Amino acid sequence: MAAAGSWLDARACDGKWKLRIDDLDAPRVVPGVSDSILRVLEGYGLIWDGDPVLQSKRFDKYETALEKLKNEGRTYGCNCTRKNWSDSNIYPTTCRDLALVDARSTRFISPNNAVKWQDLECGYVSIDVPNEVGDFLLQNAHGTYSYQIANAVDDVEMGVTDVVRGADLLSVTAAHILVQESLRGASIRYRHLPLALTPDGKKISKSSSARGVEVSAAPRTLQSAFNHLGLGLVSLDRPEAMLKEALAKWKVRA
Ligand SMILES: [Zn+2]
Repeated sequence: MAAAGSWLDARACDGKWKLRIDDLDAPRVVPGVSDSILRVLEGYGLIWDGDPVLQSKRFDKYETALEKLKNEGRTYGCNCTRKNWSDSNIYPTTCRDLALVDARSTRFISPNNAVKWQDLECGYVSIDVPNEVGDFLLQNAHGTYSYQIANAVDDVEMGVTDVVRGADLLSVTAAHILVQESLRGASIRYRHLPLALTPDGKKISKSSSARGVEVSAAPRTLQSAFNHLGLGLVSLDRPEAMLKEALAKWKVRA
């Protein structure tokens, strides 16, 4: 759904649609998974521009950014495990003032205020950083870079102008904005699409949505994405033709 929405948005402004594979946790990524993602996207007619970017090939860039943040005093070392703060959703800044040497993981020092932006879909968004974001991880105890630092660095480095994704990532976007501001990266436009929910109002899980993305189900799945995006019905056809019709509708979408 977010893939179709971002593809339509890029095509509607004659932009490029970049594909980036999140395989930061490389040892845990099943081999061949990125190939199957590419095949599914092709089967849906969602063709990207340029070569797909693998985050697992960009660790040197994240390292450079992390060093910069460290040198500028924007980080601290943390030795907590999730168990140490299991009764809280947000990391309670336990290690912030301990000046740990040789800590296992590294956290970003988040400001004590709100991050605000004008979202192209949601309008004015204000995220309460201490209560919704906190001091997020930049690198965990296994040396894995976080989604927060990797995506912030990639968006700046790849010259991304527009990010389109699901509204479940609003607080992550606040973290990206904080990192990008620290790295003095360009500002980016955001469009957070409403989440697809099951009929009883629950968020669709990866396992339940995974069944819907088989290439044979493409026309049906695309139509349900278009419904969700407020585009209404298009003619049931090959994915490319359905996308073309949806694109015309997206361009006049409010
Ligand atoms: Zn800690």
